[in-house]
Amino acid sequence: MTANLLDFDLEGLAVFCEGMGEKRFRATQLFRWIHQRGMSNFDDMSDLAKSLREKLKVNAHVAPLPILSQQISKDGTIKWLFDVGAGDAVETVFIPEDDRGTLCVSSQAGCAVGCRFCSTGHQGFSRNLSTAEILAQLWFAEHFLRKHLHQTDRVISNVVMMGMGEPLQNYSALIPALKAMLDDHGYGLSRRRVTVSTSGVVPMMTRLSLDCPVALAVSLHAPTNELRDNLVPLNRKYPLDELLAECTLYLSKAPRDFITFEYCMLKGVNDQTEHAQALVQLIRRHAANGLRCKFNLIPFNPFKASGLLRSDDAAVEQFASILIQAGFVTTVRKTRGDDIDAACGQLAGDVKDRTGVAERIAQQRAVPIEWHANAPQSGAH
Ligand code: SAH
Ligand code: SF4
Repeated sequence: MTANLLDFDLEGLAVFCEGMGEKRFRATQLFRWIHQRGMSNFDDMSDLAKSLREKLKVNAHVAPLPILSQQISKDGTIKWLFDVGAGDAVETVFIPEDDRGTLCVSSQAGCAVGCRFCSTGHQGFSRNLSTAEILAQLWFAEHFLRKHLHQTDRVISNVVMMGMGEPLQNYSALIPALKAMLDDHGYGLSRRRVTVSTSGVVPMMTRLSLDCPVALAVSLHAPTNELRDNLVPLNRKYPLDELLAECTLYLSKAPRDFITFEYCMLKGVNDQTEHAQALVQLIRRHAANGLRCKFNLIPFNPFKASGLLRSDDAAVEQFASILIQAGFVTTVRKTRGDDIDAACGQLAGDVKDRTGVAERIAQQRAVPIEWHANAPQSGAH
């Protein structure tokens, strides 16, 4: 099998070129052809020596992901479903805004974390994507969009690792993909405009801050361990105080001076005044140690199997106003691409259950989610 060159960051490509007996700088030219120009045919890479092109034809290829579907929303959002083999598919979403173009990228087929409110979580874990499969989403989208929008300049200015999967549970494939996104010879994206979203894989957050510090979003969803254990099962391993202490440490290396906390608004579950007040107390306690953050409230995108409902607008407003009054910058995420099921947590394609996770979640659902206003805020673990 020949190497898929989308699997490499620039350093990896240089090593590959050296392995073929080529000078390292050839990798830079090749990397630019692939990522900046969107080329996959070595014969079209006119400034590469003929001898190198011949070696590449024998040893390498640039393989896009087969597209299963493309849907364009009324609001300009585009969703692609890519085939990653063995019946698995992943989704990528482009969200155009006035001042930026954001690509929401998947990191895994399915997800092992199994959050109750997430359709990917209900699907169970199938496998990690390779670096090539992560980067192919950006490579295809950027070059497709340039043609589609008749633009010669860059279209995608921001990448959010908020598609299917938990990026920090696919660390070794993620890092070269992030490096290619940031590389001036690749996509040249600013570190501040590449965001890794995590449900809180604490040790990998430390490593990310050292290996490739980019903007960080943390999916919080609850102000107590009791409630978060139930919504985000990973909390049992990395409880809130540990997670928030790590967020504080991350800031010393981060390109932005705040962490974004995502909070999915679930009717009657985590959206009451008491929850907002408990959240303020929790974050204030960590703010005393240097934690700086913004909140992004995400109205839940319902799907049948979850048994959960979207919070009423009034509840979302009330929740936001409590956070704002406490001095936290808080935004409510606009739902985009609703008509094509491209909104957060709807990225499941045909839901398949590979690991019995749907059954586990159904069992959890049988246990009512209780909220005790006086429950301990920490120390439960
Ligand atoms: N695994 C990572 C990134 C992918 S999920 C993480 O959990 O952070 C991206 C975001 O979508 C997360 O904040 C997640 O909580 C949110 N999300 C998942 N399902 C959702 C749903 N049904 N409605 C609204 N947001 C959802
Ligand atoms: Fe996985 Fe994130 Fe969905 Fe949780 S919200 S199941 S971590 S993709």
